[in-house]
Amino acid sequence: MQNIAGFKHVSSGKVRDLYVSEVNENQLLVVASDRISAYDYVLSTPIPDKGKILTQLSAWWFEQLGFDNHMISMDVPAEVAGRAMLCERLAMFPVECVARGYLTGSGLAEYRETGEVTGIALPEGLTEASKLPSPIFTPAAKAELGEHDENVPFARVVEMVGEDVAAALRDATLMIYSRAAKIAAERGIILADTKFEFGARNDGSLVLADEVLTPDSSRFWPADQWVEGRVTPSFDKQYVRDWLTSEASGWDRASGAEPPALPGEVVERTRERYIEAFEMLTGTKFNA
Ligand code: ATP
Ligand code: MG
Repeated sequence: MQNIAGFKHVSSGKVRDLYVSEVNENQLLVVASDRISAYDYVLSTPIPDKGKILTQLSAWWFEQLGFDNHMISMDVPAEVAGRAMLCERLAMFPVECVARGYLTGSGLAEYRETGEVTGIALPEGLTEASKLPSPIFTPAAKAELGEHDENVPFARVVEMVGEDVAAALRDATLMIYSRAAKIAAERGIILADTKFEFGARNDGSLVLADEVLTPDSSRFWPADQWVEGRVTPSFDKQYVRDWLTSEASGWDRASGAEPPALPGEVVERTRERYIEAFEMLTGTKFNA
């Protein structure tokens, strides 16, 4: 763990390291590393510049969204410049607030079994990549490190945080999703689904936190490649996932063994994809 003058390390997740300010305990330095996770493992090979790309993309989105958020400043210690954000320290709700406009992944799997996603009944006949009649809130309970987040019905969120907060989380999630989806659509990108995390200030107000609308928290699809019924190649980890599950990697996902190191080509192509997502969305060049 890196030492940063003026800050004390508090915790590390799969991708981000959190530090608290030594002069103001209500300020958090959120440092995005170049770590990449796949299939719930943090891989041993970093993707150069990924932390900077994700931090700067989140900062850009916070400015677009017009929703109260935790960002204070990008003016941070030089050793983490570009990859860290000074943020308000909040009491986080342990809910992954997922909005889906299209059906894929764990949502599609649930639908195929039950016709519902987190208890929300959907029309018959939907398939891979189907556009939903309207976006839905499909929360997940935040899992401990190494565990998979668990999709839960809205009623479970009510049990966890109370009725008022649950409704506020759902409404905010759907509102921010539709704003973001509109902005992405103008740039030729479908925001298929995304995950937000919210926290509360001491006065109880709801604040958008964590990272937002990055390839790690969202499925972005190039609009011109979307075909209902077919898996749309997503920006982000597709090369990594494809390589890990290919024979070439020699990795057996079911074995419980750690995934192997990534070859240089997979690293480079993945890095290019993150940069492409950043540049398409923001309309600006990424400067490392
Ligand atoms: P993963 O996202 O890979 O499931 P993770 O969520 O455990 O892992 P990271 O995303 O690497 O971890 O780290 C970010 C952590 O910081 C999360 O636990 C998130 O809830 C927390 N966090 C984000 N914003 C704030 C904030 N403003 N105040 C307090 N905690 C925050
Ligand atoms: Mg996270």
